[in-house]
Amino acid sequence: MDLENITKMVGPRWIEIDTEALEHNLMAVKKLITPQTRILAVVKADAYGAGAVESARAFLNAGADYLGVTNLAEGQELRKAGITAPVLIMAPLMPEELLTAISLNLTITVSSRLGAEELAKVKTDKQVRVHLKVETGLQRTGLEPEEVVPVASDMLKLPHVILEGVYSHLAEAARPGATENQFKIFNKVLKELEESNIKLPLRHICNSTGLLSHPEMHLDMVRIGTLLYGQFPYRAPKRGLELKETWRFKARVIFIHDVPAGTPVGYGGDYVTRRDSRLAVIPVGYADGFSLTAVARPKNLNDLARYLVKTVLAYLGRVGGEGTTVTIAGQKVSVVGRVGMQLTMIDITNLSNVEIGQEVDINIRRPTASTRLPRVYCRGRQPYLVRTTSGGLEQVGSNLTVNQEVLY
Ligand SMILES: *Cc1c(COP(=O)(O)O)cnc(C)c1O
Repeated sequence: MDLENITKMVGPRWIEIDTEALEHNLMAVKKLITPQTRILAVVKADAYGAGAVESARAFLNAGADYLGVTNLAEGQELRKAGITAPVLIMAPLMPEELLTAISLNLTITVSSRLGAEELAKVKTDKQVRVHLKVETGLQRTGLEPEEVVPVASDMLKLPHVILEGVYSHLAEAARPGATENQFKIFNKVLKELEESNIKLPLRHICNSTGLLSHPEMHLDMVRIGTLLYGQFPYRAPKRGLELKETWRFKARVIFIHDVPAGTPVGYGGDYVTRRDSRLAVIPVGYADGFSLTAVARPKNLNDLARYLVKTVLAYLGRVGGEGTTVTIAGQKVSVVGRVGMQLTMIDITNLSNVEIGQEVDINIRRPTASTRLPRVYCRGRQPYLVRTTSGGLEQVGSNLTVNQEVLY
């Protein structure tokens, strides 16, 4: 499938997702855990931007045991697409959401005594699987360690509850011993449960970093996101894991023009060309999630110095920060002027043969890439399915290899 045909279907910008690479990464991660340890594939936030439904299918295909999402809507999307595998909703639900979650056979996380009481009140003839979440150091959501046994005992009395698991989430704090300390607290809870004769078959604490850094913490299940999408978490050991890139964000040049030296470019005119320049326009902007860098406050003097040096270098035209360059035919070129809502200028003066329609590779913080950017699913580089701007899935040509009934 060529650029022209993809553009005909979805326009001049899209995110290409390699389903084979998603599957490869899941199988590669699986090799790092024992057969007793299950793998929950995290597909929250639209599968980190890769598209929840197709990614979930790929991971299940490759042997994932469980799926994980943050909220009810994400669970609903998977069920609506016909995915029947177990799905854990990891954030607390509002009481009003419980019945829907139960009716869709989604697994619920109970993170507080109040949450347990709300679940106890629900009138249903269905059963719901529940995991208890324990606070061990992230200070986000979870039962305090000493609450776990009493809450678990209460929940065991509820006929509509299947108490299936207990888990915690790592803060990945840089402080030495912080992760070990979380694990110690979690283990103490597990021991107390055991001593109270409460058996929860799925005990889990590891995310991608935990999986790589702490094999002794794998327990009954690991919850993996980052690695499955082809990225290594910051500072984690690689353990010989070979991941495949799953993602490419492409746009095509839609306009080219020349401007003399000294020309202000873009909104506010706050970029001024230093030389006669050739500018190209790509159909991508901040509405797509492009180049939205979080405003950070320097943590200390070192940090402050680093920011200042970066700013000075940028002034001298020496470096572009992350997201301020794109790649054309293997060459990095700078974004110039302010990124617009849907259009962005790049400086192609140094490249001799750029034409309208030329393919541009763009870096973007993946989970913030707009869901309105079309996703083109490929096996290898061969497209077979497209998720259009409106969210529908459409087959490409005759290469469809997934079930058709799943189109929604
Ligand atoms: C996001 C998330 C994960 C996965 O984390 P990665 O570092 O991407 O592997 C696991 N557990 C919970 C509760 C999460 O929110």
